[in-house]
Amino acid sequence: MCDNHQKPITATDTPAFFAIDNYGFPEAGEHPADPPNYYPPYFTSERFKKLGYHVEELRGGFYWVTSGGYDAAFVVTEDGVIAIDAPPTLGENMLAAIEDVTDKPVTHVIYSHWHSDHIGAASVFGPGVQIVAHAITKELLERFPDPNRPVPTLTFDTDYTLTVGGVTLELSYKGENHCPGNIFIYAPAQKVLTVIDIISPGSATFMHCDASQNITGWYQAQEQLLKFDFDFLVAGHHMRYGTPETVKASIEYFADVLDGAQAAVDRFSRSDALIGILDGAGWDKVFVGTENWINSMANYATRYVLEKRTSNGQLWSERLAGVTTQTKYHAYTVLESIRLERPRPNYRLRGENPPPFLT
Ligand SMILES: [Zn+2]
Ligand SMILES: [Zn+2]
Repeated sequence: MCDNHQKPITATDTPAFFAIDNYGFPEAGEHPADPPNYYPPYFTSERFKKLGYHVEELRGGFYWVTSGGYDAAFVVTEDGVIAIDAPPTLGENMLAAIEDVTDKPVTHVIYSHWHSDHIGAASVFGPGVQIVAHAITKELLERFPDPNRPVPTLTFDTDYTLTVGGVTLELSYKGENHCPGNIFIYAPAQKVLTVIDIISPGSATFMHCDASQNITGWYQAQEQLLKFDFDFLVAGHHMRYGTPETVKASIEYFADVLDGAQAAVDRFSRSDALIGILDGAGWDKVFVGTENWINSMANYATRYVLEKRTSNGQLWSERLAGVTTQTKYHAYTVLESIRLERPRPNYRLRGENPPPFLT
C-alpha cells in the first residue's frame, strides 16, 4: 500500500482540509450515537425479534410493513388487497403481515421500481395477481428476467389511477431519478405517499445517495414529493415511515451536501488548487493526483456538512442517524454529479493556453 494514497496532497495556498483514511474504518466508538428517537419502540420488542416484521395501519386500510431495514406497504380494499413492493427481507412475512389484518386475497401488486432488493420476493403473491408498474420497469424485467420478479401485467407511461374495491391510488412517473421507472404512488383519501429510495426519514440514508443513478433527478424527486399533500411517506427504508417534518429534515441535509459539494468543486477547480494538487503527486503520477483532487473535494464537502449548524442549531449528527459514516460517500457522488450533470462554467477560449499538465 502506497503512502501517497493515504492523505490528500495539498497546494500550499489552499486551506487545510479534512483528512480521512481511505483504507481504514474508524472504530465504532469514534462515531457519535444515533439520535435516540431514531429507534422506534417496536424495534426492540420481543414480538419483532421473534417474527422479524412489524405492521402498522397508517390510515384507512393503508398499512406500512417493515423488516426493520426495508419497508413495503399494502392497502386492504373491499375486493382484495393491493400490495406495494415485496422486499426479500420481508419475503413470506409480507403475507404474514397481510394475514394479520385481513382474510382477503392479494389481487394487485404495484412495483415501485425494478430493483430486486425491493421487489425480489414478488413471486410470493402467486401467478394470479395483476402486477402494475411503469413501462420501463417491464422493459428492464424482460431484459433481465428473474422468476422472483414476475413481469408486470399492466403498465403506464406518465399517470395511472388504480381503483380497487373503493380504494384509489394515483400512480405517476416524473422521469428517471433513483433509477429509470421509479414511480410516485399516492393514496389521496389516506394522504399516504409512497416513493422509494429518494430519502430515508430520520437518517442520512445509505451511501452514494442510496446507490442512485441520476443524482440531479434524485434531488428533483425530493422537491416533487413535497408537492403532495401527505401525512405519511413510505420511503422504503429504514425502520421508519416519514412525516412531513422528518421528510423536510432529510431534504435539508441533502441540500447541505449539495452546497458543500458545489463549494468544493468551485474551490478545487481553480487552476492554482488543481495544479498544486497534481504537481504534488508528481507529473509521472497523474492518476494519483486525480484521486487526491477528488478526495480533497469529497473531504471538503464532508467537513462542510459535519460542521454546519443546521436550521434548528444542531449538528446533522444530532438530528439524523448515520451522518458521520454516510456523508463522505454522498459527498463524492454529489460532487461527481455536479461535474457530470449540471451546467459547467468557463469553457476554454480559442487560443487559450492549456494548463501545463495537458501539454
Ligand atoms: Zn432501489
Ligand atoms: Zn432501497
